[in-house]
Amino acid sequence: TYIPHLVERGDLRAVRGFFALTSDISDRKAIERMKDEFISVVSHELRTPLTSIHSSLKILATGKLGDFSSKGQRMLHIADEQTDRLVRLVNNVLDLQRIQSGKVKMNKQACNAMDLIVEAVQTMQAMAQEQGVKLLLKPVNFVVWADRDYIVQTLTNLLSNAIKFSPPESLVWLLATQQRPQYITFEVKDCGQGIPHNRLETIFERFQQVDSSDSRKKGGTGLGLAICRQIVEGHGGEIWAESRLDEGSTFYFTLPELLK
Ligand code: ADP
Repeated sequence: TYIPHLVERGDLRAVRGFFALTSDISDRKAIERMKDEFISVVSHELRTPLTSIHSSLKILATGKLGDFSSKGQRMLHIADEQTDRLVRLVNNVLDLQRIQSGKVKMNKQACNAMDLIVEAVQTMQAMAQEQGVKLLLKPVNFVVWADRDYIVQTLTNLLSNAIKFSPPESLVWLLATQQRPQYITFEVKDCGQGIPHNRLETIFERFQQVDSSDSRKKGGTGLGLAICRQIVEGHGGEIWAESRLDEGSTFYFTLPELLK
């Protein structure tokens, strides 16, 4: 809302009228809800057949039921990779839906920030090595009030993006600092391709990817950051990103500190 600064100066005679714009958002909300419900039902229905296709492909790949020609092997590999992607997508949609609806109970307790960081780094070490990216962390001594598994998942998602969008031989840092009282800020910093300034907020929305071909090329679903945001907000924290194109990005999120 723009309040004419003339009013602020107290020069009321100069204000001859004002313009107000209102819109009814209840329809939009109902449509959003229907869309959410539709996505959730479809994902749920897809999960059972998908799991069965997935396990059948895994059994075929062992070769115990007979050998495939090299072309058959290649086809099997593609089918396996693509079902992996679908399973990931369906699981992400369901995860997001569950967290959003408030159905999951966060099991919050006192967690040592360093333990969370170390666990996330251990989980992502193999992917980092495969990509030739080096993960660095700095020892910290903070205690936060958090659901351990969900925060490790948040850190893992951010690390996985940092690795995915970084060139080989580059560094990714993970640290925690205190920038304001009662909150600890976690940071995941990379020297990767960066994010355009006008996308820094939208990337936290569902299915938003800077490059729409990324889901194919990099196996992403465009849901990771939306899940991170739900988790962090469920802890009373905030999440945001800063970035410079071709220089790198830093993702930040805050969690309440537990005073010792
Ligand atoms: P995805 O599964 O595509 O990684 P996310 O929700 O995790 O989905 O991220 C959304 C988009 O934000 C990504 O597709 C990418 O365009 C951008 N992004 C996220 N993290 C980074 C990063 N560290 N560097 C560059 N771009 C990023």
